Parts: sequence; C-alpha cells; structure tokens
Amino acid sequence: MKKSVIRKYAQLAVRCGAALKKGQGCVIYAEVEQHEFAELVAEEAYRAGAKWVMLQWSDQVFAKLKYRHETVTQLSQVAEWEKARQQHLVDTLPALIHISSEDPDGLKGVNVEKLQKSSAARGKVFKPYREAMDNKNQWTIIAVPSKKWAKKVFPGERSSAAVEKLWEAILKTVRVTEDNDPVAEWEAHNARLKGHCEKLNALDLDYVHYQAPNGTDFKCWLIPGAQWHGGGDTLPDGTFFNPNMPTEEAFTSPMRGRCEGTLVSTMPLSYQGNLIDKFSVTFENGKAVSCKAEQGQALLERMIALDEGAAMLGELALVPVESPIYQEGILFYNTLFDENAACHVALGRGFNEVVPGFENMSAEELKARGINDSIIHVDFMIGCPELSVTGYTRDGREVKIFENGSWAI
Ligand code: ZN
Repeated sequence: MKKSVIRKYAQLAVRCGAALKKGQGCVIYAEVEQHEFAELVAEEAYRAGAKWVMLQWSDQVFAKLKYRHETVTQLSQVAEWEKARQQHLVDTLPALIHISSEDPDGLKGVNVEKLQKSSAARGKVFKPYREAMDNKNQWTIIAVPSKKWAKKVFPGERSSAAVEKLWEAILKTVRVTEDNDPVAEWEAHNARLKGHCEKLNALDLDYVHYQAPNGTDFKCWLIPGAQWHGGGDTLPDGTFFNPNMPTEEAFTSPMRGRCEGTLVSTMPLSYQGNLIDKFSVTFENGKAVSCKAEQGQALLERMIALDEGAAMLGELALVPVESPIYQEGILFYNTLFDENAACHVALGRGFNEVVPGFENMSAEELKARGINDSIIHVDFMIGCPELSVTGYTRDGREVKIFENGSWAI
C-alpha cells in the first residue's frame, strides 16, 4: 500500500478518530510488528499538537508464552507500576489510540480457563481506572494488517499479497482512498447514522422483535428514555471523536434482564484468540439459559458464566447489509470489522452513556435503570439479508425498523 495513503489513514486516526486536542497527551497501543504505522501515528499526533506521546507495545507471541509458563495467580496480578500508569492516565486524560492487528488464532492452544480467570482478575483491578476516564477523554480503535491476520483472512495468498489485500479492504471500510477527503466522508457518514438514531429515539420503543428464517426469534425490551447512538461520540466539553473506525451501527443498551427467545449467530466470533462458530443462545427472563455451538462450545459456556452480567445483554446494534464491510463479503476475524458487517448484540457490560443524565448517576442507579454490568462485553452477529426487526412503541404502535436486513425507517 502506498505510504501516502497509509499516512492519510494515520492522520484520520489522530484528527477524526481520537480528535486529539492541542496540548493533550496521546497514548498509542500497538503490537511490535506495527512499529512503522505506530511511528506514523505518533508523528501525526505531534503534528496535531500533542504535548507528549507514549507508545505502549504488545506482542502476541510473548503473551502466549506468558500464558503457557506463568501460573493463574501470577497472571492475575497487577503490579503497582501498572496501577500507577493507569492512575497517570486518569490524571492526565490523554487521547488513546488503539491499533488492532492481532492474529485471530494467536492464542490458540492457551488454556482457556487460565486465560479467562486471569483476565477477569486483572479486569476487576483496571475497571475503576477505566470508569474514572469514562466520558472524559477521547479514544479510538483502528486496525492495520499483520502478516498472520492477513493470512487468516486470505489463506490462499502469500503473506505480502495477503497483507496488501487486507490493507485494501480496511481502507475501503474506513473510507480512505488515494484522492478523497476522508474527513469529509466521515462527516457525511456520521450525519446519516445520526439521522437513523434520531428516528429511533423519536419512536420511544418499548420492545423490539427480531425474526429470521435461520431460527432467530427474539424479543428484547428497552430502557425507558435510553437513547440510540451511532457514529462518533461527544465529550461534555463538546469534543467530537470516533471511538471505532469503521463504524456502521446504531446501538443502545437494552433493559437488563428483560428479553426472551433465541438468537442465532450469522458469523463466527473471535474471542480471546479463539473462534466460536455456528452457535445460538437462548434467553429466558433476560438471561442466557442455554447455548449451542458447533465450534467453541466450552469457551462460550465459560464466557456466559464469567459473572452475573455475562449472561445478560449490554447492547443491541442495527447495521444494514449495505455496510461496506458486509459488501466486502469477507470475514475479518476481528470484531471491529465483523460487528460492523451486520446486526449484533453483546453479552455483558452495557453503555452508561445511553441513559440521559448518566454522568450524575451512581453505578447502582444505572444498574437499577437497566444498564447491565459485567467484566465482559462481547459482540456476536445475528444480522443477515432475511432479518426483520419490528418495533413496538410505548403508545402501542407497531413499526417496521428493519426489513430484508436493511433499514425500513
Ligand atoms: Zn456494537
């Protein structure tokens, strides 16, 4: 891929994704294989006026070694310096840029229980830091191809060709071409998404009913007053940023513990480096009571049992089949892309920000309003060209929201 196009993408991530402010700090999270792209992002961050930039490296092969050789107790520990680093982020509120490039099979062979127990334990320690930054600083997740990831998506190609193809696919989904103005594209895209959200919010839905011939038949109740969001986010000081690039969804958090029926997955789920495929989850009284997976059954069962909220939903998202990711017709094996290919739900943590006035509510109040809480938030896809979603409003109207996999409002 041409360096000039890649630079354009790095610029988009800094200016449109993280919307870095002059004088703000910036943390870039990247795998060591992506050092060249991370350096470009760092350069663009300084150009945009960053006061300081920190690169935080990771390496999946090393992570696998750790999981193999360290005990669960050791893996679960969070060192004092790690807490101090998180506290530093809370104190300085930098813009966070996550560069995703993991090999979807990178943690294959790692003991699943070890992985989940230790990440749950660490997640608990990091949670208060994350919450302290919630809605206070900008963050964005973007992706660049690694060799192994590209080979997974395009197994028939040689590494270099696969990487090139994955670059092309990624840049298409984030609306970067050689001669366009991606920032203007993103503004128009955000305006469209916002339009759908405004219509949904005006409906004041009581519940939605999902139906598809694959077996999906699912009703889910919504939180009174909760909003549908889409596209970028706005901080209380008015800073507009794009947390996910790409993004195609209109989403909300449903009422915790109020859904019934079965959801059938339409795409594999890549979870913690492992695949869960061809599965369904059945809910009763708002909780997942059973699941069936052709691949990854044990992992799915453990995921759902991780904590109380892991069996409940934290997100409903609507994505039309016109999404450029769906149109690409490839499975990216990466949630950032695959979740933007199709309608999906997430098990686990909900989004506080969908409840107006959430800034002044305690965790207990938000839970009481219906926002689910969990250490996990895992999306899985249920969208397909046959999916219909019917909405039932609080004043008794029935409204077609999705028909044949696309917006009907
Ligand atoms: Zn989503």
